Formats: sequence, C-alpha cells, structure tokens
Amino acid sequence: IKGDYKQRYAYYDQGMRDLMLEEQMIVRDMEFALVGRQFCIYLQPVCNIKTNEIVSVEAFARWNHPHNGLISPARFIPVFERSGFIGRLDRFIWEEACRFLSLQRERGGKVVPVSVNVSRLDLYNLGLLDFLQSLLKKYGLEPWMLRLEVTESAYTDNPQQMIEMVGKLRANGFVVIMDDFGKGYSSLNLLKDFAVDALKIDMSLLQEVERSERAGVIVEAVVAMAKKLAMDIIVEGVETKAQVEYLAGIGCETIQGYYFSRPLSEADFLVRMLREQAA
Ligand code: C2E
Ligand code: CA
Ligand code: CA
Ligand code: CA
Repeated sequence: IKGDYKQRYAYYDQGMRDLMLEEQMIVRDMEFALVGRQFCIYLQPVCNIKTNEIVSVEAFARWNHPHNGLISPARFIPVFERSGFIGRLDRFIWEEACRFLSLQRERGGKVVPVSVNVSRLDLYNLGLLDFLQSLLKKYGLEPWMLRLEVTESAYTDNPQQMIEMVGKLRANGFVVIMDDFGKGYSSLNLLKDFAVDALKIDMSLLQEVERSERAGVIVEAVVAMAKKLAMDIIVEGVETKAQVEYLAGIGCETIQGYYFSRPLSEADFLVRMLREQAA
C-alpha cells in the first residue's frame, strides 16, 4: 500500500507540474497571441425547437496556438482570469462578435443576435458600458444585437457593484443572460435581487434529469418561475433527441447543444446558415 501511495503521489505531482508548465506557457504567449491574432471566435446556434429557426448565436473564444494547436477555453480562461488578461481577450472577442454582426447586416435580411461571455472581472470595469457602446457605434449595431452572458458564480463576489453594472447595461438596451444557472448553490437567492433577461440552464442540471426525478421537478419549477418573472429560458448542452422531447414537453423551446450543432468556425457557420436559409 505504501508503494502504491508513493507512486500515485508521484503521478499527482507530475500532473501538477504539467499544469504549472502549461500555465507558464499560456502566460508567456498570451500577449503575442492577441497581437498576432491567434484567437478567434467559434459560433454555436441557439435554436427554437418549435420553428427550427436559429434565434441567436453564442460566440466562444478559441486559441489557435502555433505549436500546441487549438487550445480549449476551459484551459486558458481560468489562467487569464488569474493573470488579469481576461479583460483584453474579452474585448477582442466582443469586437469579433460585432464584426460578425455587421457582416450579417451587410448581407441583408434578419440579424440574429450574438451572445458573448462576460467574465466576472469585466463587470468590475467601470468603463464596460462605454466600451460596448463604442463597439456598437463603430460597427453600426444596436444593443439588442449583443447579448451578454454572465456566469452565476460571477454574481457572488461583490454583489452590489455587479447589480449596478448589470442594471446599467440593461437600462441601455443590452440583453443580459445569467449563464450556468443551477450549477452553483446560490441561484435562487441571486434572482431575488437580480433582474436579468434570461436564464441559461446549465447542462449538468439537464443531465441529472435523466438520473433523478428530483432534478426534473427542479427544472420544471425553474421554467415556471422564469415565466412568471418574464425571463426567457435557454437550455444548454442538449445532446439527444430524448432531451429535446423532454424539454418540448415542459415548455422549453430555446435550446443550444451538440444535438443541433457543435460550435463552428465562422466560415463553417456561414455555410450552414446559407444552407438553412435555402432550405
Ligand atoms: P459556457 O459559456 O457555459 O459555454 C458552454 C460550453 O459547452 C462551451 O465550451 C461549448 O462549446 C460547450 N458545449 C456546447 N454544446 C454542448 C453540448 O451539447 N455538450 C457538451 N458537452 N458541451 C457543449 P467551451 O467553448 O470549451 O467554453 C468553456 C467555457 O469557457 C464557457 O462555458 C465560458 O465560461 C468560457 N468561455 C468561452 N469563451 C469565452 C470568452 O470569450 N470569454 C470568457 N470570459 N469566457 C469564455
Ligand atoms: Ca456562455
Ligand atoms: Ca453555460
Ligand atoms: Ca460555464
């Protein structure tokens, strides 16, 4: 047992070292990556299951590293949050989202709103509203076209300042979505003080519905509550037909997940949109 423990300990140690080395690599390369345009957006449609229409699009950051290939945000976002770099990446991603919106607008036809992720740290930045408004002006857009996804956990650290910032953004026409709803522990409590436009139900809660009746009761209650509070519901991480049918049955129409599409590069996304408009 002792030997086994030692071996496992050494293994764990190696894992920690790898993580530290990766973090060092990320911090070393991030500035250059931003200037060198190694970051880009991947787009995933949010669909209405009744009409089969794309109702909005979420933009995710991707890092195309010259030596390490495509790096997932799950790896670099936490590092950027620790180092404070997140604000600069997010502003770049939001601008890419606006550029994509203006492209849609130039092509004519209906503009589908784009959701972007907003880190907790972005909400502390008093210049946030000004920055977003300057982007809209630069690309000739309206605030409803850009939706801001703030994670539930983000609300907890300094609630007062965030309540004010979210209120200011909404008062200026931006749509605010509470992301990852039901993943943390404070969801309901937050909703007492926080007015948002929509809740995005976390995929972990959806996955639990298949295993536990209690989770199903909770999801259904959340949907009913959102209706009463005049908030929209989006369910993310929908992967199977069974999930789509379940959600349709409880009155959830707006859905995002691999069932419809994985996040796609901008080029692939445009091809798909064109194909759908033609159909
Ligand atoms: P999130 O905002 O909750 O995004 C959902 C994640 O689930 C995305 O992972 C998406 O690719 C993935 N996903 C979508 N549909 C499915 C599905 O059906 N099944 C499964 N298993 N996964 C699905 P991704 O792109 O790796 O992003 C991870 C997280 O990183 C995001 O979680 C978000 O919190 C953060 N993130 C991504 N891009 C940005 C960004 O530009 N800025 C900030 N601040 N955070 C970002
Ligand atoms: Ca999100
Ligand atoms: Ca989420
Ligand atoms: Ca998340």
